[in-house]
This record gives sequence, structure tokens and C-alpha cells, in this order.
Amino acid sequence: MIPGSKLPQTGTTIFTVMSALAAELGAINLSQGFPDYDADPRLTALVNDAMQKGYNQYAPMAGWMPLREQIAQKVEKLYGAVYNPDTEITVTAGGTQAIFTAIAATINPNDEVIVFEPAYDCYAPAIKLMGGTVKSLELEPPDYRIAWDMVKRLISNRTRMIILNSPHNPTATILRQEDIDELAALVKNRDILILSDEVYEHLVFDGEVHQSMARYPELQERSFIVASFGKLFHTTGWKMGYCLAPAALMAEFRKIHQYIVFSVNTPMQVGITEYLKDESVYNTLPDFFQRKRDFFRDGLSQTRLELLPCSGSYFQSVSYKHITDIKDCDYAIQITREHGVASIPVSAFYSKGTDHKILRFCFAKKQETLEKAVERLMKL
Ligand code: GLN
Repeated sequence: MIPGSKLPQTGTTIFTVMSALAAELGAINLSQGFPDYDADPRLTALVNDAMQKGYNQYAPMAGWMPLREQIAQKVEKLYGAVYNPDTEITVTAGGTQAIFTAIAATINPNDEVIVFEPAYDCYAPAIKLMGGTVKSLELEPPDYRIAWDMVKRLISNRTRMIILNSPHNPTATILRQEDIDELAALVKNRDILILSDEVYEHLVFDGEVHQSMARYPELQERSFIVASFGKLFHTTGWKMGYCLAPAALMAEFRKIHQYIVFSVNTPMQVGITEYLKDESVYNTLPDFFQRKRDFFRDGLSQTRLELLPCSGSYFQSVSYKHITDIKDCDYAIQITREHGVASIPVSAFYSKGTDHKILRFCFAKKQETLEKAVERLMKL
């Protein structure tokens, strides 16, 4: 570490670490969240086509306008919110860039940001880099419900933002109507922004609905909503996503966005625009992933691992506390080495490294991959 490090406590993300270990050992990689099957060839053909047609120069800073229009239509159809493509939608280089940009655009030194833990690992570093303070609230397994009375106690006159993530990574929980009601009551008459990480919006199971901030005008008006094409199209390596926010917030967002990436790659935006016109691309996702979830859960139920609930996202958590009391980081490494299946230790999502002896597996995998992984995990 060099003197003056801006993030002295920060190492390499657990996703990079575990994926590298899986690659080194030739293990089945259920750690970092990404599919092991290919995207629709129609989509890759559309992007190829855009390149062939010469869409190879800068896109407008905020994104290719036809794509922003397509996003506006989708969001209105799904959640009833009207976003102006000109001033309220920006195409980003994935969800992570959108999250960083929203935080950079709004958090001043000493501002407080409420974060629920376990929390996706990119929130806290961005807040700290801006001089903000993370106010974290730990949620308890297996249900990880938000105790809203505790949230209320965390609020001060410095609270600038609450970060929400539904469907939730890593716990696979979702916000429900009662959470929305509590949240709305809490922020009412307070000057608090919401950063809503909704990258798994289409991965909600058992007929439940995704509670987007875009459904609720009183929440939408104070929210940055972050979405991901990687999750939508099984193309995490394309690093494509977008952010929605009311015009005044989006104007601040773009002041930063233009100097981080300027604009996002053009041929993909052009290809995605056409592809997104087909609603079945996202309407079929809940069933597609629910089948994978059910298949994987069925398999895991025959192992000694204990399943936690999974209502959304493509992650399944398991508890192993009745098997051993080894630290989750060590156990994840041990299983990768000895049984050839890589997972993510959930303590990596806590600022204090809280260890409930829980591992996260990604089930966005081919059936045969999941089958093989379960076979190996049976030996635990
Ligand atoms: N979102 C992915 C996950 O949770 C990781 C993405 C990344 O490695 N930055 O596994």
C-alpha cells in the first residue's frame, strides 16, 4: 500500500479472486455471477451488423437516442413511469459505472449514506472516495428483512442517500409492498435521495412483482435507478447498462459520466436497440431462471448444505454452519480446492466481515454445469 492510498482497506474484489482461483484449479465456477452459455445469436448478429454498417464512431454522450427511446418505452410499459429520453436516461458502461457515477454526482464530504449489509461491494468504496460516510445496517439471515425502525434511527440531518438493491445480491431477497410503504413514509419530507440498484429486475420468481422505484412517483422523483443489459441478455462481458433519474439529478449525473467514459460503445447500443423491441427477450427471463433455480435447489437439497430462500436474482445462498465452523472465506477456498466448485463467501459483503457461515452460488449456468456441481457438493 502506498502512503496516501485513497482506499487503504480495499483489496481486490472477491469476484476476481474467486474466479481466478476457479480458473487456476479448473474448478466449476459458481462464484462470480455470469452465465456459462451464450447470448442469443440474433443479438450478436445485430451488433455485428451495426459494425458492418459503420456505426463505429462516438455515440452521443448520454447514449444512442433510439436506444434511450426504447428504454423509455420499456420502463413505461413495465412500471408506468414516464422518463424523457433526452434528459432522464443515460446509457452506461454497465451497472457498476452507473452506481459509481450516481454516488460521485451527489455525495459530498461528510454526507451519510445508508447501506444494508450484506451489500454489493462497489457501494462503499465509491461513497468513501467522495468523502462520504457509510452508515450500514446489518440484515439477519435467513430472511434478511429490513428493520425499518432501525433505519429510522440511522437517519440524521446528514443523511443524503439510501442505497437499495432488489432483487438483492447476494441474499436473493426482494423488496415487497410493505417495504415500499415503510420507505415512502421514511423519506417523506426529508431531503434523502435513493440509489436503487435494480440490475436483476427481471429475475423475480414465484409470480412476485419487481418493486421498482419507478412504480412509485413519490420515490421515483428522488431516485437513481440502475439497470443492466448484461443480466438481461446474458452478456455480462459487454458491460452495458443504463441509469434513470429525474432531469435535475440526471444533469448532475451526466457532468460526471462525460468525464469517466464520455459515451458507451456505439455498435452495441445500435444492436441492442433493435433487439430490445422484442418484449419476449425479458418477459421470458423469470421462467428461464426460475427453472434453473428449482433445478439447482433440488440438487442442493440432497447435499448437507442448508438452503436459504431465493425469491430473485441468479444467486442461491447456503448455510454450512452445521457442517463446520471454518471461516466462510477459508471454506469457499477449501471447497474449490478439494471439491472443484467455486462459490463466494458472503462475509465479503460486510464491512466488518461478519461471518454467518454462508456461501453464495450463481445458478446462471447450463443444466449440466449445475448437475456436475451438485454431484461434487454431495461429497461434502
Ligand atoms: N455482479 C457480479 C456478482 O455479484 C460480479 C461482477 C463483478 O465481478 N464486478 O457476482
